[in-house]
Amino acid sequence: MGIIVCQSCNQTIEHFEEEKVTTLYAKCPSCSEKKQYTVKK
Ligand SMILES: [Zn+2]
Repeated sequence: MGIIVCQSCNQTIEHFEEEKVTTLYAKCPSCSEKKQYTVKK
């Protein structure tokens, strides 16, 4: 089984079918939004 974990808040975003145990890191929608609002110029 594979899981996708948010690299910012460590929440599990999604599970997917996988023969091996796999962990992928990504950003959940709420963290992506936050990032957009905290862009520094
Ligand atoms: Zn997150």
